[in-house]
Amino acid sequence: MRPPSADPALSSATPSAPASAPSLLTTRSEEIFAAAQTLMPGGVSSPVRAFKSVGGQPIVFDRVKGAYAWDVDGNRYIDYVGSWGPAICGHSHPEVIAALHQALEKGTSFGAPCVLENELAELVIAAVPSVEMVRFVNSGTEACMAVLRLMRAFTGREKVIKFEGCYHGHADMFLVKAGSGVATLGLPDSPGVPRAVTAGTLTAPYNCLESVKQLFANNPGEIAGVILEPVVGNAGFITPEPGFLEGLRELTKENGALLVFDEVMTGFRISYGGAQARFGVTPDLTTMGKVIGGGLPVGAYGGRADIMAMVAPAGPMYQAGTLSGNPLAMTAGIKTLQLLSQPGTYERLETITKRLIDGVRAAAAEAGIPFCGGSISAMFGFFLCEGPVHNFEQAKAADTVRFGRLHRGMLERGVYLAPSAFEAGFTSLAHSDADIDATIDAFRDVFLSLA
Ligand SMILES: *Cc1c(COP(=O)(O)O)cnc(C)c1O
Repeated sequence: MRPPSADPALSSATPSAPASAPSLLTTRSEEIFAAAQTLMPGGVSSPVRAFKSVGGQPIVFDRVKGAYAWDVDGNRYIDYVGSWGPAICGHSHPEVIAALHQALEKGTSFGAPCVLENELAELVIAAVPSVEMVRFVNSGTEACMAVLRLMRAFTGREKVIKFEGCYHGHADMFLVKAGSGVATLGLPDSPGVPRAVTAGTLTAPYNCLESVKQLFANNPGEIAGVILEPVVGNAGFITPEPGFLEGLRELTKENGALLVFDEVMTGFRISYGGAQARFGVTPDLTTMGKVIGGGLPVGAYGGRADIMAMVAPAGPMYQAGTLSGNPLAMTAGIKTLQLLSQPGTYERLETITKRLIDGVRAAAAEAGIPFCGGSISAMFGFFLCEGPVHNFEQAKAADTVRFGRLHRGMLERGVYLAPSAFEAGFTSLAHSDADIDATIDAFRDVFLSLA
């Protein structure tokens, strides 16, 4: 195994003799995080980063490049979080950085139309089957918030159906059974969300068409639409069963409701055209984020031109943003999509990710650890339970205590996994075959130590 961290003792670890945990020095991280906790709630700017569900202290990053992240103590990690999705070309891709340098010379924010918005819009419209027009915002949360308003504005109905374990950002109406961040903190629903607001949020178990049918039957003419992660990444990694997406397409059509794919995570990740291109099911509206910003804050929503015509100033549904369409963010997005649209990109991502998860599955089997997992293109995930897992209820059977120990063991071996048992993992074009091999070896080590 190639020692991924600074500790040379790692290379002597062999699968047959589980190594005692290599030491990981994180003094500086601990100091910074201790100070951060006095400055910001929980010491972080977003909850899952705080490592609450895996235990231990979060690692404070210093810099990122390619497949790697370095912490403030100088440890290097092979990174499978990729800034939670955007880093699909690898962190700080030289072409993205060069384009940003050039754009920076022209200023950081215009607050006026710029041609870069046209360029990114053209790329998105050409790539994503449902998108005929698009509106740029600054985050996935904003995109989902706006799309919700648009669903209601267009249909004149107020209720929406979401699925247990799916996350659509932190807008009030979506904070019901909302997956990883909320689930791992044990917050059933967030305080501060008015009951009247979530009363219109109907939830169904993922992969259960029957429940959706029932909800439509019980709320005739009241449901604006159905929103879902077409592949779930915020309740661990859960794939749609054959017929599920198609069934939702039919049910929404039959009931005069809209189908919305939240592709903030899957967009440009599980194929260039997202889940809708991969599965051949076209929703009415789509939300995007993460990859389309290439590491800068961008979200977007788009879809049928007749629906998008409702959005101000073309139509009456108000939605705005001071920094929306920001030239730096557009630049990073454009360059990232250009890199991704080159031939062979998704084949490569598919191959390495499958090799990774197959290797991890074999390592778990070797150690006799219950495991189920899978991958699609550059997205993967696993649960420490026998599986199969088709919904969030089944996902909760996973051994989260063991996951916490696995997470720590992987950190000690220089591999950075998402600090939650209910988050998908991400590979990038920068992950080399050697990185994948080293990761599988580290998993084997840790699994054997946990068996
Ligand atoms: C990350 C994510 C969001 C929220 O995006 P932010 O940019 O974090 O606000 C919404 N939906 C899905 C599916 C996501 O993965």
